[in-house]
Amino acid sequence: MNEPLDGNALAGPLSGVFTVEVTAATVVCAGCGRAEVVAAAAVYGAPMGFVLRCPGCGDALLRYAETPNARTLDMRGIATLRIPPVG
Ligand SMILES: [Zn+2]
Repeated sequence: MNEPLDGNALAGPLSGVFTVEVTAATVVCAGCGRAEVVAAAAVYGAPMGFVLRCPGCGDALLRYAETPNARTLDMRGIATLRIPPVG
């Protein structure tokens, strides 16, 4: 049985994901299943933090906050994130 790796194993793979222009990605709402381009969904709460809401059901898709100690990203409202191919 394979032993799990620690989170550092994701540093390389995720650096290729989160350097993309995320506003062009399509999110699928975990609540109602609606697909929406990030740039077209509503964002609330700036500048203290950001909440991206589903235009279909109003559920929070994504929450992001910056504090002196961390940048926190909560994506539990997203069932799928589809990112356009490079180039
Ligand atoms: Zn929804």
